[in-house]
Amino acid sequence: MAKVNSLALDCKTRSEQTESCVTAYGIGIYNGPSDDCNQSVNIHEVALWGTRGSIPRSGQAFQHYGGATSCVELIDDTGSLIFDAGSGIVEAGDVALARGQRTFHVLLSHLHFDHIMGLPFFQPLWRSDCTVNLYVGNLWPQRLSDALHDLMRAPFFPVTPDAFRCTLNTHDFQAGETLCVAGVTVRTLGLTHPQGSTGFRAQCPGGDLCYITDIEPDAAMQTRLEAFVRGASAMLYDCTFDEDEFQPDHGHSTWQKCLEVAANAGVLMPVIYHHHPRADDAAMDRIATAAHRINPNVCVARDGMRWALQSEQAAGQYVQGFTRSRVG
Ligand SMILES: [Zn+2]
Ligand SMILES: [Zn+2]
Repeated sequence: MAKVNSLALDCKTRSEQTESCVTAYGIGIYNGPSDDCNQSVNIHEVALWGTRGSIPRSGQAFQHYGGATSCVELIDDTGSLIFDAGSGIVEAGDVALARGQRTFHVLLSHLHFDHIMGLPFFQPLWRSDCTVNLYVGNLWPQRLSDALHDLMRAPFFPVTPDAFRCTLNTHDFQAGETLCVAGVTVRTLGLTHPQGSTGFRAQCPGGDLCYITDIEPDAAMQTRLEAFVRGASAMLYDCTFDEDEFQPDHGHSTWQKCLEVAANAGVLMPVIYHHHPRADDAAMDRIATAAHRINPNVCVARDGMRWALQSEQAAGQYVQGFTRSRVG
């Protein structure tokens, strides 16, 4: 149990590490953001490493949109925030290590397998020169450190988390709290999903980005969600189903609901995300065509996609939101 703990770093006494510090109070429990949550953090890029739900896919029919499961990274000048640890986090970790990053913050929407399956293979965990902070908001009063030991134990995995060589900090919060993570204010919202899930809204210089998966909203949840995402620049949203094939009580939503929420809440760019594992490239193209007819600003997420963020300061003129560029 030695390596997994719930200690939080103290920004005020670790000012030399401001790029990597976490403002927290108590033992791993957040009581809201501190006054000094640094809003000048320059998040300038969003990288989508995994956009699939449920299980990874491979093969010719999944080449364009990709088959890695949930992982999205917000990159700033000195580090990054990562949402979810699906299979996509493996590549995210390798690329971040190659650019010299040694401190990592991973916010987990929940611990269903598609959102954590990449975690044991996230290389920073296995390096003594790295610090990894993990956050989860749907477990309380259970603890993330205990859940990690449940995930990695015989006969399912050859070693326990005690084998990790990094400094590992686990942070348990309760969905609804506002976090200050590496100087970025992140609001959170509990989502209706089996065992719960947490939605995130990160304040970025070019406009807020919302990460909303997994969710099956009833009317009350939709009202809370629309208030939460109102006016955001982008919203990644659980689009597991097409309305025609919607299966209730599976804990997931539709791309049509994504567009409806975005329209009601004034979100500039709805992002179709957490694709059904059987939705191949042809099916995704059909969804993209239909969605663009309703909202030309819609983005259909795919593995390897990156968006540049343009801030007022950087652009010299006000450009709200995200400009999309494709890589790979
Ligand atoms: Zn999922
Ligand atoms: Zn789930």
